[in-house]
Amino acid sequence: MALIVQKYGGTSVGSVERIQAVAQRVYKTVKAGNSLVVVVSAMGKTTDGLVKLANEISSNPNRREMDMLLSTGEQVTIALLSMALQELGQPAISMTGAQVGIVTEAEHSRARILHIETTRLTRYINAGKVVVVAGFQGTSNAGEMEITTLGRGGSDTSAVAIAAALQANFCEIYTDVPGILTTDPRLVAEAQLMDDITCDEMLELASLGAKVLHPRAVEIARNYGVPLVVRSSWTDAPGTWVTSAKPQGRSLINLEIARPVDAVEFDTDQAKVALLRVPDKPGVAARLFGEISRQKVDVDLIIQSVHEGNSNDIAFTVTTPILKRAEAVTAAIAPALRSQSNPKSDEAEVMVEHNIAKVSIAGAGMIGRPGVAAKMFATLAEAGVNIQMISTSEVKVSCVVDAAECDRAVNALRSAFEIEAGGQGAGSRGELLTPNSSLLTPHSPPPVRGVALDLNQARLAIRQLPDQPGMAAKLFGLLAQHNISVDMIIQSQRCRVIDGIPRRDIAFTVSRIDGESAKKMLTQVAAELGWSEVVLDSAIAKVSIVGAGMVGQPGVAAKMFEALAEHQINIQMIATSEIKISCVVAQEQGVKALQVIHAAFGLAGSEKFVVPA
Ligand code: ADP
Ligand code: ASP
Ligand code: MG
Repeated sequence: MALIVQKYGGTSVGSVERIQAVAQRVYKTVKAGNSLVVVVSAMGKTTDGLVKLANEISSNPNRREMDMLLSTGEQVTIALLSMALQELGQPAISMTGAQVGIVTEAEHSRARILHIETTRLTRYINAGKVVVVAGFQGTSNAGEMEITTLGRGGSDTSAVAIAAALQANFCEIYTDVPGILTTDPRLVAEAQLMDDITCDEMLELASLGAKVLHPRAVEIARNYGVPLVVRSSWTDAPGTWVTSAKPQGRSLINLEIARPVDAVEFDTDQAKVALLRVPDKPGVAARLFGEISRQKVDVDLIIQSVHEGNSNDIAFTVTTPILKRAEAVTAAIAPALRSQSNPKSDEAEVMVEHNIAKVSIAGAGMIGRPGVAAKMFATLAEAGVNIQMISTSEVKVSCVVDAAECDRAVNALRSAFEIEAGGQGAGSRGELLTPNSSLLTPHSPPPVRGVALDLNQARLAIRQLPDQPGMAAKLFGLLAQHNISVDMIIQSQRCRVIDGIPRRDIAFTVSRIDGESAKKMLTQVAAELGWSEVVLDSAIAKVSIVGAGMVGQPGVAAKMFEALAEHQINIQMIATSEIKISCVVAQEQGVKALQVIHAAFGLAGSEKFVVPA
């Protein structure tokens, strides 16, 4: 007998018939000898409908009232599903988030879970009832009790958090697709189902746009070792297991906010190669990295900054032993990258920096918390460490610094984030955690597991930021103060001296809804902080590949860039982490970019998926 938490998404409870079908599945699971907590979403597109209603009354509805409104959707479903279960003769009881005691921060519309009371849940479970809980909602008890919501798609997070709090045997997420696929089947019908995927990979995929799981749900599963599976509510197929290494024991207090950073990592064996002023046109990155991979040079971080005028800078890091080879290949290819029609003398200049180190903070808890990266930059600034390159992923921020400053940087970061020296790295792979581990033996996966598209981002570029310690800290500190989460951050390689001060550009992406206000706020402080223009581009798309198997595999980046070049898709920005590569392209080319990359990595299957309406 197991204690199972099941979650059913909107489409799965979209009609009376669907609710009855869910009740049948729940009933069968109980009859097989299990205890069940069922978390449900609002029916079908109810939440979208409620948002639309609010927008008809106000262009900027009050966030408290929005939570009051949106939380009603789930309340309808819990009552109906409980009735459907009772009709089958199965004792059941519905509960709102507040009734359970899902206690959250007082932050309306994006509250994080602090803890979950288990007394009432356990009492009903022990009495043989199925407890049907409203997903996506909680209650804040700071001061007066308020209804909060966790952010769109948050029912997944409710379910996994309840599973963690109850120490359930596993958590099943039932949805309208058979599991986690190599990409969104609505965009590529030939997407293939995966049997399993690691939490680290899924965290990246989810936060890069794969809507199938709320990233915070994956974060909780990873931090608390909750065995998690995504399945279709239409079939009995096994679905996709999201696997994780056994975590260190963690307190259930401050569940979602306890520790944003798990590890401080560093690598002093790095060197940087930059290619300055290459033409901004399709195919340049493909040629460079194509040649680099043919020479079997494995690159680590790749960064391409936003173009200035009509040229780009591309930089990458390699380990010191292969620097000579990387430099030689880059120098050899540079002439071919100059614009053939009108070559200028300073085009495609190769710049090599030997003594650099990469320092990173890693941890799933930094998702959607802009203050964490800002704190890293502030800590480095206080320690007098200048940041040369920044590369971010949802679960990691890496900065390239002078090797001589590495120790100082690492010590400062360890004390700021309270990390003991020699702690386990966040990315470490361990035993795969599923209810029946023997089912899943660790195997070496293909380099690229999945491809994701994010059409909800905007890009901001700040021109001519003074290149001195503390600038990134000020900039991202300001954004954090305004609760604006930054996604990709890229600092230009090119340094120009203006008014006697060396300056660089910095570009980053934010959610599209934050674009205008971020621009306004940053423009207001431009004179004071000494930068020039702030440029906003809302018509961008970000396409990303994810896979733990790309570590140490030269050629993965080249293949992605080549696929884009072949279809005349220009890459505006590139950012990588160990297990992902993201490219920003023009918005209207986003879907095409996703499709050609998915095909280039041979991820398409022979079967076509049809997602139920
Ligand atoms: P639910 O209402 O059940 O929570 P969602 O709409 O939130 O369902 O998530 C399921 C949808 O996620 C699918 O219908 C699919 O279009 C989309 N999706 C995006 N990327 C992926 C992926 N890699 N694998 C599976 N589904 C994906
Ligand atoms: N109903 C909420 C939404 O549509 C939460 C969820 O379904 O996960 O975002
Ligand atoms: Mg969902």
